Amino acid sequence: MSFSLELTEEQEALRSKAHAFARDVIRPAAPEYDRAQELPWPVIEAAAQEGLYEWQLYAGLSADPTGLSLAVVMEELFWGCAGIGLSIVMPALALAAIRQAATDEQLVRWAPECFGTPGDLRLAALAVTEPSGGSDVRSIQTRARKDGGDWVIDGQKVFIGNGGIADVHVVVATVDPEAGHRGQGVFIVPKGTRGLTMLRKLDKLGCRASHTGEIVFEDCRVPAAHLLGGEERLTARIAKGREAERGSPPPLAVSEEGGTAAAVQRRSSAALGAFERTRPMVAAQAIGIARAALEFARDYAVSREAFGQPIIENQGVAFPLADLAADIDAARLLTWRAAWMAAQRKPFEHAEGSMSKLKASEVAVRACEQAVQTLGGWGYIKDFPVEKWYRDAKLYTIFEGTSEIQRLVIGRALRAEANTEPLDQRMERPR
Ligand SMILES: Cc1cc2nc3c(=O)[nH]c(=O)nc-3n(C[C@H](O)[C@H](O)[C@H](O)COP(=O)(O)OP(=O)(O)OC[C@H]3O[C@@H](n4cnc5c(N)ncnc54)[C@H](O)[C@@H]3O)c2cc1C
Repeated sequence: MSFSLELTEEQEALRSKAHAFARDVIRPAAPEYDRAQELPWPVIEAAAQEGLYEWQLYAGLSADPTGLSLAVVMEELFWGCAGIGLSIVMPALALAAIRQAATDEQLVRWAPECFGTPGDLRLAALAVTEPSGGSDVRSIQTRARKDGGDWVIDGQKVFIGNGGIADVHVVVATVDPEAGHRGQGVFIVPKGTRGLTMLRKLDKLGCRASHTGEIVFEDCRVPAAHLLGGEERLTARIAKGREAERGSPPPLAVSEEGGTAAAVQRRSSAALGAFERTRPMVAAQAIGIARAALEFARDYAVSREAFGQPIIENQGVAFPLADLAADIDAARLLTWRAAWMAAQRKPFEHAEGSMSKLKASEVAVRACEQAVQTLGGWGYIKDFPVEKWYRDAKLYTIFEGTSEIQRLVIGRALRAEANTEPLDQRMERPR
């Protein structure tokens, strides 16, 4: 299917529905949950009633061959509030990891558990990051070992959305450290499993309406069937990984996909595959925040007067907003391209996924900072939402691969594409 910027009628309807929900339900609730740093259960319940919190929706959107449906829904929900947005879509991130790793039977078994139903809501978490580091996904210290008919997990995870309170924890653990990333397995650890404990809920700068926890696994035992993809597939991957590790050049110690042949092979990695699928989704969330900030700053600049005229009449106010308008659209184009490529299963040969995440997250931070500046003193006060959006936006340059890691990936793609023919042989020399 060729890439098109034109949304279908169905996609437009979905966008309108998500926008109305963000405007009427999410935005009014946002200040309270930001202050309280509590999970917005009534909003999640309302989302479930509206069909915006159900596995069928996200499974369907992920199967959309244009890739744009999910991007559009993300942008609208996060235009409302990124913290509440995260609480609504966190199970979709876990579901993406399950889809990546699971057999069809496992997908059918666990997808409904990630969301539940109205009146019986469930939560899901994707647990990859550890206290020793999140960027270097290859070095996951959490271990899983087979013991009889069970898997036993030991280790610690930090910064986990819904971590410790989720009904379903999708956990990446190392089974065979000698096999590199292929030695990692993805496990389902349901709530209440003995040995799974929440150490603490983390107190955050922004996105405070989402729960972020630190969790520990101690002798945490799950049945063999909770290894996603099954043991046979993992054993084959481990054998391949061991062989690759023996003869391979030094590993790329990053959690992202580059444009090299090695990167294409790495796509079978448990954690990395999930990140690849979710990156444009996360970029679309950042664009939602950026758009909210720009719209608010624009409207303020038109209505606020100084020196006898609206402040937008000053180029010093209008030009930064003009730059943002162009940059947000550019970031959206990158994001839609990456979303389309992911949906079409086209490899990110030129680090297109990283480009979308990098640009969208950085424009979100800039848009919010500019919105604060445009509002002057009011930008700094909680009467207006821009200071909250500023705090929320910063997360986007950190999670799902920091900006540095995205640049690393893009840089590596550039290096891989470089023409190594000596430059002096390619130059037209003046005679
Ligand atoms: C609110 C929040 C929610 C999160 N949700 C989840 C979640 O649900 N599940 C999950 O698994 N994780 C989650 N994360 C974790 C997040 O993905 C990690 O924080 C992120 O990947 C960075 O890892 P780190 O914090 O360990 O930083 P580190 O990897 O220790 O990096 C520290 C700094 O060094 C830089 N750096 C590291 N290596 C390089 C390099 N090679 N070149 C240049 N710079 C480098 C980084 O860019 C960063 O600036 C969340 C984090 C936060 C803050």
